[in-house]
Amino acid sequence: MSRNKLCPQCKIRRFQVKNDEGRCVVVTVNENYEIIPVHENESLEGMDLSVLYCLGCSWKGSVKSLI
Ligand SMILES: [Zn+2]
Repeated sequence: MSRNKLCPQCKIRRFQVKNDEGRCVVVTVNENYEIIPVHENESLEGMDLSVLYCLGCSWKGSVKSLI
């Protein structure tokens, strides 16, 4: 079973990624630092994957900052 990476502040597992036009996709990050859409029909094409926005607090940062 894979373990999801967690927010370093509030320890939840769900984040948003965004694109230039403000579209958001809710994602999780697996133990291999792969960004996975929560809803499997959603695409990450064109999304800025360099910044994750935590859904539980004000934290934002890169996947490598997750715990
Ligand atoms: Zn958080």
